[in-house]
Amino acid sequence: MCDHYVEVKVQLEQMKSLGEDAEKQGVDTEQVPVSSVSPDPSSITLAGRDASNTSITCKHRGKSHSKSGKDDKNLCGKHISGVSVSTHVGKNLNRLEHEQTLHIKGTGRILQGKSETNGNYVTIHPSKNIQETRREDGYNLARKRKPVTVDSSKAKTSLEALKLSIKQLKWKEFPLGRRTACDIYWHGVSFHDNEHIVSGQVNKFPGMIEMLRKINLSRAVRTMQELFPEEYDFYPRSWILPEEFQQFSTQICMVKENDATVNPTFIVKPDGGSQGDGIYLIRDPSDLKLMAGSQAKQAVVQEYIQKPLLVDKLKFDIRLYVLIKSLEPLEIYIAKEGLTRFCTEPYQEPCQKNLSHVFMHLTNYSLNVHSGNFVHSDSQNTGSKRTLSSVLYRLAAKGVDIKKVWSDIIALVIKTVIAVVPELKVYYQADIPPGKPGPTCFQILGFDILLMKNLKPVLLEVNSNPSMRIEHEQEVAPGVFGYVPSPVDEEVKVGVIRDTLRLMDPRHRKPSISSQLRAGGFEHGEAIPVEGETRERNPDEGGALPSLCLKPVYPKYTKQFNYLRLAERIAALFIRFLGVKGNMRLGPTAFRTFIRTCKLSNSNFTMASVDILYIDITRRWSGAVPDSREAGMGLQAFVEAFFYLAGRRFKSLVLREQVVSLLELCEAQLEAQLGIEDRRSLSCSRALPRAIKTQTLSLNPLLSSPAPLRRAASQDYRLHQRLNPRTLRANVEN
Ligand code: ADP
Repeated sequence: MCDHYVEVKVQLEQMKSLGEDAEKQGVDTEQVPVSSVSPDPSSITLAGRDASNTSITCKHRGKSHSKSGKDDKNLCGKHISGVSVSTHVGKNLNRLEHEQTLHIKGTGRILQGKSETNGNYVTIHPSKNIQETRREDGYNLARKRKPVTVDSSKAKTSLEALKLSIKQLKWKEFPLGRRTACDIYWHGVSFHDNEHIVSGQVNKFPGMIEMLRKINLSRAVRTMQELFPEEYDFYPRSWILPEEFQQFSTQICMVKENDATVNPTFIVKPDGGSQGDGIYLIRDPSDLKLMAGSQAKQAVVQEYIQKPLLVDKLKFDIRLYVLIKSLEPLEIYIAKEGLTRFCTEPYQEPCQKNLSHVFMHLTNYSLNVHSGNFVHSDSQNTGSKRTLSSVLYRLAAKGVDIKKVWSDIIALVIKTVIAVVPELKVYYQADIPPGKPGPTCFQILGFDILLMKNLKPVLLEVNSNPSMRIEHEQEVAPGVFGYVPSPVDEEVKVGVIRDTLRLMDPRHRKPSISSQLRAGGFEHGEAIPVEGETRERNPDEGGALPSLCLKPVYPKYTKQFNYLRLAERIAALFIRFLGVKGNMRLGPTAFRTFIRTCKLSNSNFTMASVDILYIDITRRWSGAVPDSREAGMGLQAFVEAFFYLAGRRFKSLVLREQVVSLLELCEAQLEAQLGIEDRRSLSCSRALPRAIKTQTLSLNPLLSSPAPLRRAASQDYRLHQRLNPRTLRANVEN
């Protein structure tokens, strides 16, 4: 028996407890049945795995099912052999990939260094003379020969896929960590898995787990819904429990009173839950289970999508992998291939009788695998787990405009990321304060998306730790479960990890933002995922790697989405007044300073009113966010205060116009203020070394987004308003 699977057997018991740990921290452990997809043998080459002669280790399992990830850091991967290479060159090489190829040939300008002090800033040299460029190319080539180093000691359940990826890239893995710094640190759960990293890149952002919990995600999307209700209608209406129980009850009663034929259904999801745990459907607010023991349950109650798109009469959802490559500037990639997970009982619209039928209403693999109807299919387009591309093609065959579906999905992803970025930036500056050495970050997220019957995509949730396991548990005999390799997992997930690493390769020039912008506008006619596309080989890179399976979408589509980034501008103000100590909350003095600096008080709105506003909002939010790290006003409370101030000042406008106007006013005041400060500091510090001046500037997040950029954001917004005939414009009152 293969050593690898002997080890799996020995570790099985340990895995459960370790996996439970991971689960508690929000690890999603979606898994795929091995036989659900049968790769086309002519085009797919698995890295030394052959599903047909898979060894299986069995264990008898009791009633309780271990759904969580395991710490598999000792799965040394003896089964990994070299990667066979196809010379199949990608037909759809996009501009980005082309540019990387150029770079590899040593003709591109190079990355000269990156600031590790705040955000993922990377400096690209301006154009240089030929001699200089050649010198750099030589230096680069020498550097390129040094393999990139990856610390995989904390990779946990993604270790197997990571090992395969590193091997394919011919990079160097440090499975036990390294005394000196590595280029990349791969964490299984959180940014904090490894403390004291001062350089390199980490595959998790600080605060991502917290931001993507169901309540926080709902809050972040809700802020955007207030500003842009039409653009953010892809997220079901949600209420946060227990604090919004009254609003929920009242609104539902009103809806029912107004129209007795309406009988909506709601889905209740525990805040930190995953894999369908604790989820239930209700039709009446009185059915809510509000307490867990003596504690009020933190949960989200959400409008239930009653008419999902069905395939083979079954409800299904989509798992899409998304890479946030950088927060500043914002860079987003979407994996061209994803997974679809099917229910195992034919769908019927909810009624009192079927509310508890989880196999009909919930698509989680971890639940449906226990249904007698779960199908481990040999084909990609049957069974309970299929590739996204196979489902899209199936729909295309029925005449569905799948290019539009795919474009809508991309738009949903970009808008969702734009909603969570403001708070992520607050976490970022708290953990990696400006001016202090620290790593830069990137992260793979798992988006769960439902298609409605009318083909509109709906966001269900975003997983900060999507399962990257490439083996799965399978019942090999009645009551006997074992771990077996899963070719479809390996194909999709190794591709995502490997190509994420390629994009984060510290030796490579970052593809210029302008080149991504040139790459085209956003249309309802996006290139759709192509079956087998991830298997295409690009012979220029690393000798024999497939073309990238990750598609750049932002800043490529900046023009179409930049106007939505209003909350980020509010967050920039918030961070500006937080100070430089790594705080996440504004104290009363800092809030007053904000009001004074931006000249927001006057005889009608005195500083005493400012204090009352601060106390009122902060008190309410401290009750709403009980696990807050420190006292004071957090970003969400600040956003509420900002909306209030904007409403006061620009009464006759609609909310988003109010907010834009107040932002412009505040930014102009700060700019003027900074101009004065600059002139002052210039006159008394002419002798300061350049490096110190630069660092002083980088401490200020507003300055990190120069005036022309901020103006461009405002212009984008104004332009969008002009192009959007539905927008009402009102007169500015003040
Ligand atoms: P978990 O993190 O526990 O998996 P999800 O939010 O993903 O929680 O919900 C679990 C499942 O419930 C989803 O996979 C989907 O099938 C179903 N579901 C969730 N929200 C809705 C909704 N608003 N309408 C219809 N089905 C939903």
